[in-house]
Amino acid sequence: MNSREGRRILVRGVVQGVGFRPWVWRLAQQAGLAGRVFNDGQGVTIEVFGAPAALDRFIAGLEQTPPAARVHSRQIETIANQDASEFIIAPSGPAGEPGRRVSIPPDIATCADCLAEIEDTHARRFHYALTNCTQCGPRFSIAREIPYDRVHTTMAAFAMCADCRREYEDPGDRRFHAQPIACPACGPLLLLVDADGAALDVADPAGPAGRLLAAGKILAVKGIGGFHLACDATSSAAVCRLRERKQRDEKPFAVMVRDLRAAEALAVLDNAERALLTSVERPIVLVKRKGDSGLAPEVAPENPMVGLLLAYSPLHHLLLSQADRPLVMTSGNLSEEPIAFDDADAQSRLAKIADAWLLHDRPIENPCDDSVGRLIAGQPVLFRRSRGYVPRSIALASPVAPLLACGAHLKNTFALAQGRDAYLGPHIGDLDNLATLVAYERAVARLQRFVGIEPEIIAHDLHPSYQSTRYALARPEACKIAVQHHHAHVAAAMAEHGLAGPVFGVAYDGTGLGSDGTAWGGEILLADFAQFERLATLRPISLAGGDLAIQQVWRLALAVLDDAFAGDPPMDALALFKLIPAGEIALCRRMIAEKLNTPLAHGAGRYFDALGAIGLGATHSHFEGQVAMRWNFVADAGEDRRYDFALDATRRPWLMDLRPMVRQATMDIVAGRAPAVVSARFHNTLVAVTAEVLRLLRQEHGNHPVVFTGGCFQNARMAESLRAALSPEFAVHLPGQVPPGDGGLALGQAVVADALAKRL
Ligand code: ZN
Ligand code: ZN
Ligand code: FE
Repeated sequence: MNSREGRRILVRGVVQGVGFRPWVWRLAQQAGLAGRVFNDGQGVTIEVFGAPAALDRFIAGLEQTPPAARVHSRQIETIANQDASEFIIAPSGPAGEPGRRVSIPPDIATCADCLAEIEDTHARRFHYALTNCTQCGPRFSIAREIPYDRVHTTMAAFAMCADCRREYEDPGDRRFHAQPIACPACGPLLLLVDADGAALDVADPAGPAGRLLAAGKILAVKGIGGFHLACDATSSAAVCRLRERKQRDEKPFAVMVRDLRAAEALAVLDNAERALLTSVERPIVLVKRKGDSGLAPEVAPENPMVGLLLAYSPLHHLLLSQADRPLVMTSGNLSEEPIAFDDADAQSRLAKIADAWLLHDRPIENPCDDSVGRLIAGQPVLFRRSRGYVPRSIALASPVAPLLACGAHLKNTFALAQGRDAYLGPHIGDLDNLATLVAYERAVARLQRFVGIEPEIIAHDLHPSYQSTRYALARPEACKIAVQHHHAHVAAAMAEHGLAGPVFGVAYDGTGLGSDGTAWGGEILLADFAQFERLATLRPISLAGGDLAIQQVWRLALAVLDDAFAGDPPMDALALFKLIPAGEIALCRRMIAEKLNTPLAHGAGRYFDALGAIGLGATHSHFEGQVAMRWNFVADAGEDRRYDFALDATRRPWLMDLRPMVRQATMDIVAGRAPAVVSARFHNTLVAVTAEVLRLLRQEHGNHPVVFTGGCFQNARMAESLRAALSPEFAVHLPGQVPPGDGGLALGQAVVADALAKRL
């Protein structure tokens, strides 16, 4: 016994509620060590005793982790040997001490073991739709309070049966302390309800539910973070019916498949896409659709991509295997409303959409939409960071005061931060109606409790009429700090990459209020957290009719053409204007000329809209970014020429003048050049002017890293080719886990507000 030594290992990161302690327990058993493992205020503490060689083996084994764990650090110290004879999972260390912010893990996709179990006819969880274990299952979405224990989840009402209890208490079982543990004998059950609200008396509702889907019906399916509306993704009739009833014209629907093999049948995948699709977070991944995929074209009209996601709950697996086809899985809501998550609410709100409801009686406490991402330059970029990621923290390079950042108006998420942890909340959506606002306020209050942050600073956008700004100003806390939209975008990117600045921030988006009261969105900033200088901007476009011009993109087209051709563009030669009544064109022109209800906007996104409208003959954008996206997708990958641009460096900020491009692109279109070529040259021009300006700015301001941010960097071609144009002279940082669009804005507001508060 003399050769025994002791080690204490502090593990930090997402290590609670992910099966970490039983996994450590098994590792200690294998190594023949004694000691204990327990949850502490900030993670997990392990104390082990035994022969040095066995300790080394154990510590080496800790390099691996259970799939859903995210270890940020391991701290190992030598401690005195103790006379322990076995290895135990000890009760949690002190909870509730100040600054305790470990909380609830994100929801985790069904693991392979549970999947095998629900397919095993001899297992007691055969076909059990709410199967889970320490490695998988709902977490955040069922949590009511901290700490994350069963009594504080929506599983509290279900008493464990003797079999489940045994598994729950056995450290050798993979359901040891699995808080949502359940089985058909004691847990929540599925229920299939028809359009009249009558429950169907069937033993295994997934079977008939699958048959309804196969017959073209629309099903409201209660999932992990809310309701989905599901239908047969291969049936045009079913998809059209869903579009009609959901009042959703052309916005793409996500498609769920059983597994990677089914995904490969629909889309061309590379390894990075496979990895993102099968990650425990299971986001919707935008991938290239195969020509012969068999998907109904109405799933994603005029879109070469498709948003795929793999089944992530046992219910999905059962349903997909019964339906035996890919399913549209779109948020259970009417357009613009928040996702439905409560049974009664869903049954009333979705009554005009769904033909039947597939329910279960495990309540959803925290609604959480599916996350969305894609690969750009070989790396995952999240467009929407929600289920699977929330409430995992984002590590900050330097500590911040306790604060709440209220986010943007569209695609809202908020953030809570304190110390080195920033927590982005779930996707809330556009704060345009009361229901969304209620959901927003509820989610803020909830996450505040979960992460134990009492904000001292409230950060918000400059825009006075954003609902998030109004909410911020109505909060009781005294310290309110407004943060300029694009400064926040750039700071979010800096925070994600651990940069303190200064950086050159390329912030290209649709719109955001500038410090001068005009709409910005084609900005190159020199920024740190506390301040920024607006070094360059795109020549602004007239928005005839204000926001109306963003939907009626032909108005933007007319504005850039009149500007570029000094009021005399070749209107008759452009197909676009044959679709618009002459009277409307004349009226629009007069508004622009007389500057009537015609604000100027610098947004890069507006150039995509305008040129897309001209090149594609698209008069309207039916959802935000539709024409810009089509213009992006149509671009010929092989075309490397570009158009001219001008730069006015005599004024501050410099003006990036795209009128030469507009003229040449228009003449190309008039001459019958393919939109694919024109779009590619348009992209190349935007890349060239940005790279040229950054090179000139570097001579004046020194060399600094470059961050890309703003919704335009969801455009892979734009991000990849601008990065290529700037390499290797600049260190370039692309968005990754923090969405480049307004969904990531709150993180930037948080770090900027903290820096500004420190100067007060
Ligand atoms: Zn599992
Ligand atoms: Zn049970
Ligand atoms: Fe923005």
